[in-house]
Amino acid sequence: MNISVIGTGYVGLVVGACLAETGNDVICADVMASKIDNLKMNILPIYEPGLEDLVARNQQDGRLTFTTDIAAAVASASVLFIAVGTPPDEDGSADLQHVLAVARLIGRHMTRELVVVTKSTVPVGTAGKVAAEIVREARFAFHMCSNPEFLKEGAAVDDFMKPDRVVLGVDSDQARDVMGEIYAPFVRTGKPVIFMDIASAEMTKYAANGMLATRISFMNEVANLCEMVGANVDMVRRGIGSDSRIGSSFLFPGPGYGGSCFPKDVKALIRTAGEIDLNLLVLAAVEKVNERQKLLLAEKLRGALAGDLGGTHIAVWGLAFKPQTDDMRDAPSLTLIEELLRAGATVCAHDPAAMNEARHKLGDTITFAETNYEALEGADALVVVTDWNEYRHPDFERVKAALSQPIIIDGRNLYDPEKMRELGFGYYSIGRTAVEHTPAERVREIA
Ligand code: NAD
Repeated sequence: MNISVIGTGYVGLVVGACLAETGNDVICADVMASKIDNLKMNILPIYEPGLEDLVARNQQDGRLTFTTDIAAAVASASVLFIAVGTPPDEDGSADLQHVLAVARLIGRHMTRELVVVTKSTVPVGTAGKVAAEIVREARFAFHMCSNPEFLKEGAAVDDFMKPDRVVLGVDSDQARDVMGEIYAPFVRTGKPVIFMDIASAEMTKYAANGMLATRISFMNEVANLCEMVGANVDMVRRGIGSDSRIGSSFLFPGPGYGGSCFPKDVKALIRTAGEIDLNLLVLAAVEKVNERQKLLLAEKLRGALAGDLGGTHIAVWGLAFKPQTDDMRDAPSLTLIEELLRAGATVCAHDPAAMNEARHKLGDTITFAETNYEALEGADALVVVTDWNEYRHPDFERVKAALSQPIIIDGRNLYDPEKMRELGFGYYSIGRTAVEHTPAERVREIA
């Protein structure tokens, strides 16, 4: 099949490479010339496990090509995926300008009957707006499909190749047949392809992210409560996660959710409801809890360092919003670093993948260390923000020797509190620190 993917970011690149891998001829198009030039040389704009090999192999075999010529990409497609960004507008709604700009080009440059797939996360009703733009200049029939993407950054290739399910909102039998054929190789183990109407497919993506964000904020509140009353959130998590109605994933407390999807999708869903005067009370609270949680690590640090962060030097392990990615969009590390700098602290940070991205975002406001141990030299405390595997079993003697004070704020509950105490650390984690170590008043204050 001749497939074009417009927008070659986290989603578009993964989609394009994976569809080429199953034998389709795929053109990935983007307006960013530097990105396309690099991709032609197999230099990827993002870090994503397995993606580099996939791009190189399919490009070499001639099934995957890259271009900035959007018109040409449209002209040669029989199926076209729109995978451009939908960032939050000032009022929190999804900004559809890129999606609609692509739609206009589709109408102008299509050369045959086309299935147009919205892969970007877009509010209910967007497929209709896209169709209205296309139809202005279209000379051929076209069919709309909403195909929300559920890949997780850090495991994106795997998620696309072996999805839990594929959601397809279609408006015609042709779209249903073509999309069913495209996805057949990815669901051979019997995972469901769920066909539905377009509005429901568009809503499914927001509802999924809203639910996941809700679990995170809920567990963060439970964790903060555990800490104040002397319970251990690790035990509580295991206790509730073994209930099959609840399940064990997405129950880990931490420094708040971040990344390119949850914050913006929660905002956009609240905004969609607001447009019809409906208050989404649960999601509004989810967002509020998350804002508070993102300040918690700095608050814990204040508690551990007797209140004043001015003049302190802090080591930060982990900048990406989660492990196995270099994505720092809305990362909790940014809120922490902003707080530390505002309070007059200096920061040295390490991340296995996101340091380049961090340099772009933070410039020389902080320093960067080549290794996680180097980041500790002379620091008054270590804050662990991202749960990269390589931070799970450090040489604690080395950590202690490098720090000027043996204090660790663990935002991911990576270490055993008992062991840390035995090793002589002042150790603060989320929802399981012994009551006497808990800056409970501070938690209450920022509530
Ligand atoms: P991204 O910012 O990484 O990539 C978007 C790309 O689109 C950029 O390379 C940009 O240059 C390009 N672009 C913008 N306007 C264009 C135009 N008019 N023509 C051609 N290219 C254009 O974004 P992303 O993370 O890949 O997300 C894309 C969409 O997918 C968003 O709606 C997002 O919500 C959704 N989504 C993202 C994820 C994720 O984990 N990142 C998961 C599921 C869904």
